[in-house]
Amino acid sequence: MKLLTNYIYKLRPNQTQSLRMANWVDMLRSQYNWCLGDRIIQYNQQFIQGNYCDLRTRSEACPLTSFVSKSGATGNPWKDSKFDKEGKARNPRRSAGDIQITALPELKAARPWYADVDSTVLQQNIKRLDTAYKNFFEGRGFPKFKNRSNFTSFTYVMGIKLQGNKIYLPKLGWMRFYNSRPIPNGFTIKACTVRKRQNGWYISLRIEDKSVPEYSAKLLNNNPKVIGCDLGITKLVHLSDGYQIENPKFSTNKKAYRTLKIRQRRVSRKVKGSKNRKKAAIRVGRFHQKIGDKRQAHQWKTANKIVSRNVDVIALEDLNISGMMRRCKVKVDEKTGKFLENGQSRKRGLNRAISDAGWGDLVLKVAYLAVKQGKTVIKVNPKHSSQECRNCGNIDKSNRDGEKFICVECGYHEHADIGAAKTIRDRALKIVRGDSAKLGPRAIEALNAQKISPRSKSKRGEFGNLSNQDIKVAKS
Ligand SMILES: [Zn+2]
Repeated sequence: MKLLTNYIYKLRPNQTQSLRMANWVDMLRSQYNWCLGDRIIQYNQQFIQGNYCDLRTRSEACPLTSFVSKSGATGNPWKDSKFDKEGKARNPRRSAGDIQITALPELKAARPWYADVDSTVLQQNIKRLDTAYKNFFEGRGFPKFKNRSNFTSFTYVMGIKLQGNKIYLPKLGWMRFYNSRPIPNGFTIKACTVRKRQNGWYISLRIEDKSVPEYSAKLLNNNPKVIGCDLGITKLVHLSDGYQIENPKFSTNKKAYRTLKIRQRRVSRKVKGSKNRKKAAIRVGRFHQKIGDKRQAHQWKTANKIVSRNVDVIALEDLNISGMMRRCKVKVDEKTGKFLENGQSRKRGLNRAISDAGWGDLVLKVAYLAVKQGKTVIKVNPKHSSQECRNCGNIDKSNRDGEKFICVECGYHEHADIGAAKTIRDRALKIVRGDSAKLGPRAIEALNAQKISPRSKSKRGEFGNLSNQDIKVAKS
């Protein structure tokens, strides 16, 4: 791994440029959705018995040439084959992405306005769908059709030039931007993503320094220093050494919650489709952006605080956040068929608090900074970590009363969350010691090699929420 980072700047496009970029995003979204639909259709065609004719290319196809499969083996197997020395086909099938990329000139011929978009941007757009499919095969949700709210960006991989406070983007020309921090020496721009946010356009430059060798984690000895972190809502983090980090509750504190409610109400009271409604909606969006920015900043600070502790290993909870935020089961009265109270209205508040805390993003940031400093992150099963007595091992719900932990069996007491953090630390220690005893230093090396990079934007929900039909389409 080379030294890779993202630097984000705010762009200052002129009116033509910003109109054009908005136009591009719309076009790319419809291309993305078309490609996704195309892959789903092609996949379903393989269940038709016998050979069929591909409507688009008019070539004969058979179930073997289906578009989407786990290995990515798709398309016309007889075209574009390369042969190695022994005469075996080396790359007999092309991936769905490859086929859709080669079909791009046809798209431009049929819809000439697509020629306005830079060709590498179009290609990256299809690769984005490939990534979505890759995520799906790794167990995340099925790729979703995008709408205006979750498709706001496009990516360049070539032809970007920088000069002072101007950046050159192919087909868009030179554009000014707020050069808020200089790119360090030795770095080259690998790619850039242009993203529309509430208050304008931003660019995220992916920069790389090849001269720096990969981060090497320190080898762990048999007795490493481990710190346990317990993530929570009243306090964001409890560390096993007693240190606490506040949770500012950016969107669920009283003031922010009230402001949000008022601004949202102002939108809903305006006439649908009116300019005033649009203006009010922009105000809501800006407020959301502000909250998000604050949360990001606080998470980086928190992650830095955790990672800069004098330890070798950071133990985190392996949380299933989407599972925690699931809605309560529907309760129905069997006689009358009426819906009964199921506790969802109470759960809603908790769900809001969980998503406001942003544990998932925080964990990613901790992991990213830890790799940078050569520290190891271990994820630990957090089951019963705050109910288990650290003195006698008794697990009972009634051990815990808010912040207090009093064991009902032996009377042992301490701060509940700090106790949980200590339990997490001990479990991590067990993993480290167990591994080093069983497999020797190589296992630790493998543990060290875990490399995780944070995503700038939360992917939660972007590929989630798959319906039953989607699963059938893709998995059956
Ligand atoms: Zn006890």
